[in-house]
Amino acid sequence: MPLSPEQQAEIEEQRSQAAPTLRAVSPGMEQHLYKAQPVLDHGFVRVIDYMGDDAAICQAARVSYGKGTKSVQNDEGLIRYLMRHWHSTPFEMCEIKLHVKLPVFVARQWIRHRTANVNEYSARYSILDREFYIPAPEHINAQSVVNNQGRGGVLEGAEAARVLEILKSDSNRAYDNYESMISEDGPDGEKQDGLARELARMNLPANVYTQWYWKVDLHNLFHFLRLRADSHAQYEIRVYADAICAMVADWVPAAYGAFEDYRLGGATMSGKALECVRRMLKGDEVTQETSGMSKGEWREFMGVIG
Ligand SMILES: Cc1cc2nc3c(=O)[nH]c(=O)nc-3n(C[C@H](O)[C@H](O)[C@H](O)COP(=O)(O)OP(=O)(O)OC[C@H]3O[C@@H](n4cnc5c(N)ncnc54)[C@H](O)[C@@H]3O)c2cc1C
Repeated sequence: MPLSPEQQAEIEEQRSQAAPTLRAVSPGMEQHLYKAQPVLDHGFVRVIDYMGDDAAICQAARVSYGKGTKSVQNDEGLIRYLMRHWHSTPFEMCEIKLHVKLPVFVARQWIRHRTANVNEYSARYSILDREFYIPAPEHINAQSVVNNQGRGGVLEGAEAARVLEILKSDSNRAYDNYESMISEDGPDGEKQDGLARELARMNLPANVYTQWYWKVDLHNLFHFLRLRADSHAQYEIRVYADAICAMVADWVPAAYGAFEDYRLGGATMSGKALECVRRMLKGDEVTQETSGMSKGEWREFMGVIG
């Protein structure tokens, strides 16, 4: 369970206290504020705070003295223009602060995105919970044979059962030892000093859960989502990106619509690829050999144009 009843009660209490404000409010985002969206077996994402809305993007783009918005159609057109032409700074005027609970191996991928502000739960100061990510059976896959950095078909039968059993028993054994090392009660009931938490944690596997507050502006969040909501991203980080995408779609619907169209749904083409498209439109037969592209490039190109 991602949240205890006490934590849930704290969230409910926070949601029950509304205050009038002169600041921009996004009705779509207000629905999400503070609530935890479950991800994986013990993880979650929740919005702690946000700044700005679609109008704030237009306001900044027009460097306005007032609201800076015109008609909905006009604003949406402006946002799409900004996205299309990589005019990114107006998107930086919106910010989001998330509380994320995630396995350490996912956190290692996530933290590579340097353009955010992070504060992580301290396992030097606090004792970590006995919470480990154990994949659902349908997410225990074999190594991919076509992509060294990916997974293939789902493992089945005795092999799947053995893998699951190893993951569970190793996690529990590591946690038992973690507890016994930090404890002031020795194995035979005698008193002991107890190992420092900052050292004991090194014995825990990478599927243990950590938590952090993560604050980022909308431009850099879109960059993160483009990479991590993509089918090439590992499933375990992709599900977090998908959950965030759903929140962003409610927060800034016009900006998210433009992002979905130009970035998630769009593709970048090399000069050679574009030349091939032009030749194809003229009716020429183009093959990998005559395209000037490598086999890998050609495969990806064919994937893009279907
Ligand atoms: C599918 C996939 C596979 C990956 N595989 C690997 C791997 O095998 N090994 C590995 O190490 N990493 C891997 N990565 C991580 C990847 O290389 C990036 O580190 C990660 O995606 C963060 O991207 P970023 O640097 O663009 O993001 P951010 O750190 O958020 O930066 C955003 C942008 O800001 C600019 N920027 C930020 N910091 C600097 C800087 N110091 N100097 C110059 N420009 C800067 C850049 O334009 C950058 O694109 C993988 C990522 C993905 C999505």
